[in-house]
Amino acid sequence: MTSSIFVLGAGMVGTCTALHLQQRGFDVVLVDRREPGQETSFGNAGLIQQEAVEPYAFPREPGFLLNVALGRGAEVHWHARGLWQMAGSLLRYLRHSHPKRHALATKAYSRLIAHATHEHDLLMAAAGAQDLVAREGFRFVFRTPEAFDEAAQRASALQDRFGVRYQAENTTQLAQAEPALQRSMAGAVHWLDPWAVNNPGALVQRYADLFVARGGRVLTGDAASLQPQGAGWSVQTTEGRVDAEQAVLALGPWADGLIRTLGYRFPLFIKRGYHQHYTSPAQVRQPLLDAERGYVLAPMQRGLRLTTGAEFAPIDAPPTPVQLAKAEALARELVDLGQPLPEPPWLGARPCTADMLPVMGPAPRYKGLWFNFGHAHQGFTLGPVAGRLLAEMVHGQPTWVDPTPYLPARFV
Ligand SMILES: Cc1cc2nc3c(=O)[nH]c(=O)nc-3n(C[C@H](O)[C@H](O)[C@H](O)COP(=O)(O)OP(=O)(O)OC[C@H]3O[C@@H](n4cnc5c(N)ncnc54)[C@H](O)[C@@H]3O)c2cc1C
Repeated sequence: MTSSIFVLGAGMVGTCTALHLQQRGFDVVLVDRREPGQETSFGNAGLIQQEAVEPYAFPREPGFLLNVALGRGAEVHWHARGLWQMAGSLLRYLRHSHPKRHALATKAYSRLIAHATHEHDLLMAAAGAQDLVAREGFRFVFRTPEAFDEAAQRASALQDRFGVRYQAENTTQLAQAEPALQRSMAGAVHWLDPWAVNNPGALVQRYADLFVARGGRVLTGDAASLQPQGAGWSVQTTEGRVDAEQAVLALGPWADGLIRTLGYRFPLFIKRGYHQHYTSPAQVRQPLLDAERGYVLAPMQRGLRLTTGAEFAPIDAPPTPVQLAKAEALARELVDLGQPLPEPPWLGARPCTADMLPVMGPAPRYKGLWFNFGHAHQGFTLGPVAGRLLAEMVHGQPTWVDPTPYLPARFV
């Protein structure tokens, strides 16, 4: 079987890349070992984070770091083997998180985020996926007045600089807006521009259905079988070998494993995260971040989804849902969670880079090979933007965002 290009990985990023390549006239095959949108893009908090103009920096507050080291708090959990494995990348992440460097990363990151809801909107309209999305924002809720005041000032600065809209809500306004909260909170920063998807995996599947309806093929195969073939590339699928002139690697947190076999050592690492659904009778209206405790509650089709912060552990280490237990106890202070659905916690991994910017562009040294991974905390948000930018580069047309900060060559 031949195609002009195949995309390995049918998460949000790979599926959107396939769609955008198709729109530009390529004959595209999308290959995954599972159905589209069944991994990281399935289990996230479903937020299209138009407010997330700053990439997530390595925390630098000594008190916070001490708590993490001592295993206190719900925000971070670590395995010694995970820290050891990722030590080099984490040290570079710490260096890149210096305020001056972080400001540069923010400049590049915010350019992508700026287009997130618009690019999703175009795909949602074409895919008939509007029923999966609520466009009423996302709240950071605060337990203490000090943290609320600081966050409101920060939000105001971000609004001035990037145009991300918010409303500060005091205790009463928040209680009225979100009656499910059973505890009096100091206040909330209500970001007005983010959208909430109530079934993230289903959204990827709808985008994949659109790709198929437009003539694309989705095949089951293992990316590890990727081989240079003549002037192009091949991959084995259950339908046989697929040959193409070009290939895109969009393997999210598994990208590192594959690019190592091609001789690359990029400063990549993962932050694992868990979710659990609850029967909650409380009817939380919009997703909320318990900002001083580090977990998210998001209403989903299946119930109220609680997602956790970062766990530094090897990608294949058995689940250790320590944070989930802690976050559940904290969430029960805020809302009536009800019972967990009778299923094991979901576990996934955010694909991160030391400089907090995704890896998008031509693979150095290999002709016809392209990378699109490393979208970290906002890969669900950035999928359509990342897909469009990569497709424009492959097509050789002028890109609507300068791709320089994201090019893989920066790590070589
Ligand atoms: C707890 C949690 C909450 C999050 N919340 C949000 C949020 O609210 N908003 C947001 O924007 N982002 C969020 N994220 C981040 C977001 O989910 C990821 O950045 C995004 O899903 C990455 O998409 P992807 O397509 O790169 O990777 P994936 O969705 O993981 O896709 C990679 C694909 O590659 C396939 N694959 C891997 N290896 C092989 C192989 N050998 N052969 C064939 N196929 C293979 C996998 O099956 C998978 O389908 C969250 C992440 C976590 C963990």
